[in-house]
Amino acid sequence: MRIGFDFDNTIVSYDELFYRVAIEKQLIPADLPKSKLAVRDFLRKADNEDTWTEMQGYVYGTRMGDALAYPGAIEFMRLARNRGIAMVIVSHKTNYPFRGPKYDLHQAARGWVESFLVDGIENLIEPDQVFFEVTKKDKLARIAQCECDFFIDDLPEILLMPEFPQKTERILFDPENNHGVEGMGARLESWKEIRNYFEMKWKT
Ligand SMILES: [Mg+2]
Repeated sequence: MRIGFDFDNTIVSYDELFYRVAIEKQLIPADLPKSKLAVRDFLRKADNEDTWTEMQGYVYGTRMGDALAYPGAIEFMRLARNRGIAMVIVSHKTNYPFRGPKYDLHQAARGWVESFLVDGIENLIEPDQVFFEVTKKDKLARIAQCECDFFIDDLPEILLMPEFPQKTERILFDPENNHGVEGMGARLESWKEIRNYFEMKWKT
């Protein structure tokens, strides 16, 4: 069995970090919900779209090391690895931020994988199984090339693209319950649910 994972907002949760950075920069009131979307919506309403764009480069670059995995994500990978399940990460992101200092976002993401997705000194996912592509199209081609049995992503539009491989089961990670289940093999709201889902499969 091979399981593929998206990276941003599937393995890594940025909610706390966007909130924290926005507070540090005195851009939002403290009582705003601790969520990336709440920060974005607040800045957009305040006609601060450029600030929002720049903040993304800062968070995904300079501050990447402060981002945390969703609860249960690392534990799930450890379990899967111990069972000999093959795992890959396939993500797409620009090489550099759209605004602000030219920070290598792929390098930042790789650094995060190396320091967080570990069990002691061992990588939970081998570095040559971690792919950061620049476009959605490249991401889809990579998912197909990896021949995943399952792919987990927070974006329905990725899972539902015509290039998505037919033999890969689509699992939508939807922690904020934003989407329907249409076209998906499963819609799961937490890594605990992901774990339950696969433990059922591993049993049979
Ligand atoms: Mg994502």
